[in-house]
Amino acid sequence: MNFLEEKILRDGVIKEGNILKVDSFLNHQIDIDVMRQTAYEFKRRFRGVEVNKVLTIEASGIAIATLLGHLYDVPVVFAKKSQTANSTDDKYISQAYSFTHKKMNNVFISKPYLSASDKVLIVDDFLADGQAAHSLIDLVHQAGAEVAGIGIAIEKGQQQGGSKLRAEGYKVESIAIIENMDWQKQTIKFRNQPELSFGNANLTIE
Ligand code: 5GP
Repeated sequence: MNFLEEKILRDGVIKEGNILKVDSFLNHQIDIDVMRQTAYEFKRRFRGVEVNKVLTIEASGIAIATLLGHLYDVPVVFAKKSQTANSTDDKYISQAYSFTHKKMNNVFISKPYLSASDKVLIVDDFLADGQAAHSLIDLVHQAGAEVAGIGIAIEKGQQQGGSKLRAEGYKVESIAIIENMDWQKQTIKFRNQPELSFGNANLTIE
C-alpha cells in the first residue's frame, strides 16, 4: 500500500452517496508531508514528459499544484469557478458539473495565463466522472496549448472519469485508485498499483 492509500484508510471517512471525506489532510486541513509526497510521485511518474505549466481548479487542487510547480520550477495556474456566465473576450470559459455540490459551474482562466506554447500538466485532488478534468482540458485546448498529462491524488475507479480520459489517449496517473468503498462498513478496496520508488525518508529526485 502506498503513503496516500494508508493515509486514506487511517483518516478518510466514507459518506453515503459514494463520497470520501478527506478534510483532515486534503480538503480543509492540508497535510504538507502527504502533499509533498504526492508532488514527488507525480514528478517521478511524469519523468521525461515536458512540462512548463501546472494547472488545477480551485480550491483543493491548489496545494498539490503549488508543490508540484515548485518541483518543476514552473508557474501554477488555477482555473476559477463561478456560477454566472460572464462571457468576456479576455477569458477562456468552460463548464463542469460539480459531483460534490450537484451544480453546474463555469470554469475560467484569464487568457494571459495560458498560451499556445504551454505544455500543461493538469492536477487535481479527485477524479470521479471526469467533469473537472475535461473542463481543464477544454481550456487548455482553447488556448492552443498541449496537455502533457493528468495527475490525480485520488481516483474513484468505480466512476468513469479515469477510463474515459485514458481511452481519449491522455496519460493519467492517480496515486490512489479506489475500486470500491462501503460507507456502512467503512471499508475501501484500492486497485493494485506499481510500487513507489521512494519511501518517506528519501524524497530525492532529479
Ligand atoms: P469529477 O469532475 O471528476 O466528477 O469530480 C472531481 C471533483 O469533484 C474534484 O475536483 C473534487 O473536488 C470533487 N469530488 C468528487 N468526488 C469526491 C469525493 O468523493 N470526495 C471529495 N472530497 N471530493 C470529490
